[in-house]
Amino acid sequence: MAIIGIDLGTTNSLACVYRDGRAELIPNELGEYKTSSTVSVLENGTVLVGAAAKERLVTYPEATASSFKIWMGAEKTLTLAGRKFRPEELSALVLRQLLEDAKRYLGEEVEEAVISVPAYFNDDQRCATKLAAQLAGLNVKRLINEPSAAALYHHYSAQAGNCQLMIVDFGGGTLDVSIVECFENIIEITAIAGDNRLGGDDIDRAIVGQFCQENGLVEEGLAPGLRASLYRQAETAKIALSSAPAASIFLQQEERRYSLLLTNDILRQLCGPVFRRVRTVITRAMKDRSRGGRLSDVILVGGSAQLKVFGDFLEGLFGRRPHVAAAPDEIVALGVGLCAGIKERAEDLQELVMTDVCPFSLGVSTYSRRDDRTPHMAVLIPRSSMLPASHQERFYTLNDNQRGLRFEIYQGEGYFASENLKLGEVEVQVPPGPAGEQSAVVTFTYDIDGILHVSAQSSGGDFRERLILNPGLHLTEEGKEQAMERIRQIQLAAQGDQRDQLLLERALRLYTQTIGQGREMAASLISYWKNLMDCGGRIQRRRDYDRMKEQLDMLEAAVEADPLEGGVWFGEPEEDEDFDVEWED
Ligand code: ADP
Ligand code: MG
Repeated sequence: MAIIGIDLGTTNSLACVYRDGRAELIPNELGEYKTSSTVSVLENGTVLVGAAAKERLVTYPEATASSFKIWMGAEKTLTLAGRKFRPEELSALVLRQLLEDAKRYLGEEVEEAVISVPAYFNDDQRCATKLAAQLAGLNVKRLINEPSAAALYHHYSAQAGNCQLMIVDFGGGTLDVSIVECFENIIEITAIAGDNRLGGDDIDRAIVGQFCQENGLVEEGLAPGLRASLYRQAETAKIALSSAPAASIFLQQEERRYSLLLTNDILRQLCGPVFRRVRTVITRAMKDRSRGGRLSDVILVGGSAQLKVFGDFLEGLFGRRPHVAAAPDEIVALGVGLCAGIKERAEDLQELVMTDVCPFSLGVSTYSRRDDRTPHMAVLIPRSSMLPASHQERFYTLNDNQRGLRFEIYQGEGYFASENLKLGEVEVQVPPGPAGEQSAVVTFTYDIDGILHVSAQSSGGDFRERLILNPGLHLTEEGKEQAMERIRQIQLAAQGDQRDQLLLERALRLYTQTIGQGREMAASLISYWKNLMDCGGRIQRRRDYDRMKEQLDMLEAAVEADPLEGGVWFGEPEEDEDFDVEWED
């Protein structure tokens, strides 16, 4: 039974296995390594995950969700086609899809996984990721920080020798910056800094904001489908600008037609606020590293790292253009695959050693003196401590005959406890006595998954473990079993149909984005293809697949050029004997 590595991304997720002495990415049914982290509920209750679901962001926005990773660990529910889901449950569905693809590809059962998380994920977010895996029926062997996985693969494959690297992972919803020291076969993460709410999505948002501002539109006032279509176009234009001088976005609403022309100069301006936040994170990582010295290299990973304007910005910052990793979208997954290999004790990976650090300081709220009004943070594990880390500290009663000692547990860098994220609390009873006589020892253990374990023992002998604040994340065994059953009950789209389903969803989306001749074309393709799907028609679908896809590609190209010039983009449909479409009236 294999252990697989999973990069569970905000935008895209990948799976990887270590076999025959190498990390091997696992293709999904579409033959692609990247599976869009998008979930959509069909009318019959079946759930689509991946590219076909992504199409439905435009056509069925109220039945579709993406970027839900940013809500992991938060008290939040998302409603899809009237059904409520927690972010962990949506992630569980993505994991289930990856798992099915892995089983099919490997031809064996898979029940264990190593999963990567942003280095800057806090305790709640990590627990939520573990829960998502459990809901998907997966046993998590280890959580590994995404940039650490990238560093592991980079060092392993580049055989770069002894060096100090900065890894910048700029994805859809998160930014992670790590400083890594490599010495022979030892990889030591010496500092991490990041921002859990910063990524390519913010750039798309800035573009859409600009579009609305220039056209006098209110974004919130747009129909969800139109809005999703705008975001889609914004993303396409953003990516196109890395290789083209300009790109446009269009929107047709009733009789009015709106547009925006983007150039790299405009994009650079729009990215200003985002890049300023990137700069803060990079500066912090540089300050936090345990040793000084020069960086040997800056390696860029993640989808957004490929943006030309991002490269320009970093070049300005470092005085030298950092280089984009060979496979920026895949390197994290490859590293997680290696980590899975290490967990499986693959012979040839025995020598590889990696150590990681914790991204946040952890402590309890405390009063130093009796007249203290505002509790501050007593740090037990300072940030950048090497994992696993453990520390104990003794705290004394402040009042006479105080009956208990209560500790609120926090994570963060603020002086005052209230500035930090509260993770939970723990309280122990103490025997009555004069102030300062009774005490309790608090023990923090931060494991290699970056999850905190807290216990307290009073001088009176009372022993307690952390009380959890976020009950949704820490279900009872029974609650967990019920949640697992709920996820198990959900039917994922049938194997073998995904490619065909994607064509249908794409045609449906193109229909909404066109008018005139383009729309007529989309309509006949939909009707033909849907009919084949409804009636089984597998052989015919196999035969027509390439032609259907070609037609959709042409439509897509026309939409990208200008979605609203319904008439001029398309020549007469070719006569083709093999493509025997019976067009409906
Ligand atoms: P995550 O790890 O958060 O799932 P990825 O690393 O896959 O994300 O990056 C997704 C983000 O990268 C999206 O915002 C997407 O628009 C952006 N992106 C993908 N390819 C490119 C590209 N070639 N140029 C610029 N941005 C890109
Ligand atoms: Mg990523």
